[in-house]
Amino acid sequence: MSCPICGKPTQPRYRPFCSRRCADLDLGKWLTGSYAIPAEDPEALEEAAEELARQPRPDEPRH
Ligand SMILES: [Zn+2]
Repeated sequence: MSCPICGKPTQPRYRPFCSRRCADLDLGKWLTGSYAIPAEDPEALEEAAEELARQPRPDEPRH
């Protein structure tokens, strides 16, 4: 098994990561919600961007 963050071999102490740094990075990803969009899939990113653009902004003033 390899580290899901950087791909290096996993260290048992930091499983499933290779280091404290990657474990922290993963936690940060969860906290910022970036896991909602798979970064390694450009098409999914595009779709997510389109989805966001399609949604009306509730705080936008009406004319
Ligand atoms: Zn790593």
